Amino acid sequence: MKKTFEIRDIDCANCALKIENEFKKIEGLSDAKIDFAKQKIYIDGDIKDIDANFLEKIAKKIESSVTVYEKDQVIDNKRKFTLNHLSVIIGFLILIAYLLIHTFVYAFAIETSFIFYLVSYLFIGGKVIYKALRNISRGQIFDENFLMMVATIGAFFIAEYIEGIAVMLFYQIGEYFQDLAVNKSRNNIQALMDLKPNIAHLYQEDKIQDVKPEDLSIDQVIIVKAGEKIPVDGIILSGQTHLDESSLTGESKPIYKEVDDKVLSGSLNINGSITVLVSKTYKDSSVYKIIDFVEKNVSKKAKTEQFITKFAKYYTPIVVGIAAILAFLVPVIAFNLNQTSYQIEFPIYLKRALIFLVISCPCALVLSVPLSFYAGIGKASRAGILVKSGSDLESFSQIDHFVFDKTGTLTKGEFVVSKVYAENEEEILKLASHAESKSNHPIALSVMRAYKKPIIEKDIDAFEEIFGYGIKILYQNKLCLVGNEKLLNKYNITFDIPDIKHTVIHVAYDQKYIGYIVMEDEMKITSKETINHLKKLNKNISMVTGDHKFIALDIAKKLGIDQVYYEQLPNDKKDIIEKLKRNEKIAFIGDGINDAPVLISADLGISMGSLGSDLAVEASDAVIMNDEPARLIDAIYISRLTKRVVIQNILLAAGTKFIVLILGALGLANMWLAIFADVGISLIAVIHAMSILREKKRS
Ligand code: ADP
Ligand code: MG
Repeated sequence: MKKTFEIRDIDCANCALKIENEFKKIEGLSDAKIDFAKQKIYIDGDIKDIDANFLEKIAKKIESSVTVYEKDQVIDNKRKFTLNHLSVIIGFLILIAYLLIHTFVYAFAIETSFIFYLVSYLFIGGKVIYKALRNISRGQIFDENFLMMVATIGAFFIAEYIEGIAVMLFYQIGEYFQDLAVNKSRNNIQALMDLKPNIAHLYQEDKIQDVKPEDLSIDQVIIVKAGEKIPVDGIILSGQTHLDESSLTGESKPIYKEVDDKVLSGSLNINGSITVLVSKTYKDSSVYKIIDFVEKNVSKKAKTEQFITKFAKYYTPIVVGIAAILAFLVPVIAFNLNQTSYQIEFPIYLKRALIFLVISCPCALVLSVPLSFYAGIGKASRAGILVKSGSDLESFSQIDHFVFDKTGTLTKGEFVVSKVYAENEEEILKLASHAESKSNHPIALSVMRAYKKPIIEKDIDAFEEIFGYGIKILYQNKLCLVGNEKLLNKYNITFDIPDIKHTVIHVAYDQKYIGYIVMEDEMKITSKETINHLKKLNKNISMVTGDHKFIALDIAKKLGIDQVYYEQLPNDKKDIIEKLKRNEKIAFIGDGINDAPVLISADLGISMGSLGSDLAVEASDAVIMNDEPARLIDAIYISRLTKRVVIQNILLAAGTKFIVLILGALGLANMWLAIFADVGISLIAVIHAMSILREKKRS
């Protein structure tokens, strides 16, 4: 069983990792993950006794400020003014007062000065030192607190008091601004994905009552006022309005809705008051599915992110090791070479080693990488494409070959019956729609639309949908077949195959061929431009379809797709993907109706507007909300942008640190530069990560 909790006030991404490791030790848990950017805990396993309190107790052992909440408790992200902030300010004031008096009024003795420095230092760095000592007592030595403590105590040791205090002060200020930046970005992203409606106005027995969306049931009536979110999916009973569906579909234009129109939960009612008949419970509504989708799959960290996490683990101890060598071994070599003494050389190299320590904090990397992916996912969802995890977002830019399903993916899947060839047109439509009445296939829905008369349930028996073939039922106790050539061949029905470039449905009844129905489908508006764009990006493109050769080739020609696999059963489609996968990275884009296995087997499974089909949402790695293939291109660009920002941040942070490390070792960098290399770069990296959200759609 899986469960999600909210976690607040974790100090850094590194601390999150440590807490995560503690959670993993809990008996009965098969997995525990903390998403630092989303501030969430995901646990899996035997978790009956585990609640927020229990987790909070464990987390507090690592970070005393951390709080844990149950999933649906509403919490804001504002940071409080803490004791630590007060302490830093007092320490700073003491330092300033001392410096002013000492310079202008009365020169203190060295011993008295030292006491002033020490008191100021302890006020400013108290929390850092406390944390460093506490972590050492737990055997977790190498973290940024430790680095800062050693570096500043070292500075005191060589009588560089002001530098020592300054390192602490700027480290604290840097942490504060980093917090602000991260919180701001979190709020930004959460607002983006904040689809969750909090309240519904239930209209019952002439009274209006406020209830939770979760408590609504089908066929109840609710009122949605202007400026409110639609709480559950439903149908408008009265009123008219414009809805902003942008968080669901990425479509930014308001959409006009009136009586009998469907409304989706999570969309925003802009300007009218409407009465809505509840057609789906909260758990079946679109908004819940989206939230669930976005929250469920965090276990797959992007490869770059995995790399950085591992890297940070080894990097800090290595730098500390080098610093120790620099402080204690190099002076020995130096005084032998320079013919001086250890007493003269040691302070010089100790100082260099301390600078080394200040620079070595890996915070910028550990923080900015997951934050970038998070921002990328947020941006994608705003563009109307839901991506499950950082690793899936990363995949978009790595795909070599895009394989498209035809019906419902490249074409609208809204067939219109254009011709009926049969002796008795009424009869063939009646048979076909009775057969199709229990299917969800686009063909079935279209046949039903063409036959406007009621379905007589008692005439239907033994319904069976044969994927890739069609439907088999007993109609008035005789076998009725509705589907393609293959279906009729299977039952040895003889007939002439018509040469038609549209989808054809054959009907046989009681072993006799009745005739066929021609159905025309329309191309989606952005299919052609998507294919062209993918070609420009040098991607391989194929189409697979269960439909007939003629129509498959015709559509492929119109779109400019050279590689076509036609008359394929769902299982054949899967085999094709498996085979292609051996040499290339494959994305499969389907409508989710009967192609869940294909979605799973592809490296990246993308389904179309599958808000209706749970199975497809489960099976795919990304969902295109408004059904338009062009969203794919947006996702590729967002993936590239995210990747680019991540790499730039890594290069920036690693590069600056490397240069300053070398300069520090050579004695060419001072503490101030070191402070900038640490705190400044972290801030720049976080701000750069957030720029993903601001960037125009395609870049
Ligand atoms: P696609 O690959 O184009 O999405 P499917 O695999 O869903 O197509 O279906 C392949 C073919 O099987 C259809 O073109 C149609 O001939 C037949 N078929 C599938 N389902 C039905 C149905 N419910 N009624 C009639 N024919 C069907
Ligand atoms: Mg299909």
